[in-house]
Amino acid sequence: MFMRIDKLQVDMPIPKDPDPQAAAAVQELMGGRFGEMSTLMNYMFQSYNFRNKEKLRPYYALIANIGTEELGHVELIAAAVNGCLNGQEPKGDMTKGDASMESLLDMPLLQHHIMYGQGAMPTDSRGEGWNGSYVFNSGNLVLDLLHNFFLENGARTAKLRVYQMTDNPAARQMLGYLFTRGGVHARAYAMALEELTGVEMHKMLPIPKIEDIQLPEAKPFMDDGYHRKIYHFSQHYEDLKYIWKGDHPDGSGPLEIIEGPPDGGRMNDLEGISEAFTPEYTKEEIFEMAQKLYQKAKG
Ligand code: MN
Ligand code: MN
Repeated sequence: MFMRIDKLQVDMPIPKDPDPQAAAAVQELMGGRFGEMSTLMNYMFQSYNFRNKEKLRPYYALIANIGTEELGHVELIAAAVNGCLNGQEPKGDMTKGDASMESLLDMPLLQHHIMYGQGAMPTDSRGEGWNGSYVFNSGNLVLDLLHNFFLENGARTAKLRVYQMTDNPAARQMLGYLFTRGGVHARAYAMALEELTGVEMHKMLPIPKIEDIQLPEAKPFMDDGYHRKIYHFSQHYEDLKYIWKGDHPDGSGPLEIIEGPPDGGRMNDLEGISEAFTPEYTKEEIFEMAQKLYQKAKG
């Protein structure tokens, strides 16, 4: 089962200006074939269907733990999309029957505004819904781990391309963090495969051959050692320590296991947009209703 912490895994600045183009590109990292919804659901189903959990505990723990972290990555991508759409408010008076949302007509993904109230969608950059057939779970442990290694590197390739498409500071901050975390996941799956097969998977890393340290937005996270740490997202997954051990090959220090989740950043809280009926009432009305609820609760 799951508990939820009302924080983001890392602070996500809200951009000063709206950037709907960046929001559309970042959608690929949400619901695309190699997006965070895919890493989440691949590792979730692999953990649900895992046979011999006790006999193969370190491998089960690794997949289940990384899967749990991915849920927070989905949340982070959503925060980045919301941030990039913030400030793109429709202008006008909805009570007068004018086309108050006309300014949004040339936005790259109209569904952001029509169906999601200027929010993130469970889709790729075309607006195509995330698809359950993106999940690969053969039940063969080596093959599933090999797939996960491939998935992490496919995800990294997509992220690098989005990084090169936009210099939006919020999108890039999020990417800088996710490069370091995806690097941990790719390395962890490589190490698990090495334990099982003896094949030196880590020699392929990084894919593509661009080191995270070369990306200015990843460097601060690497200085804090995010690329060396696995966080325990459950007290039951400690056996992954039999896989995640030794030193990072970049010479920066030991691979570490941290008890509990990262400190995290604050949960963003964006203003409602009455022109888009989100929420439906004016702010003042909603606040008044909330006050009444509190007063009733106090009796
Ligand atoms: Mn991820
Ligand atoms: Mn990952």
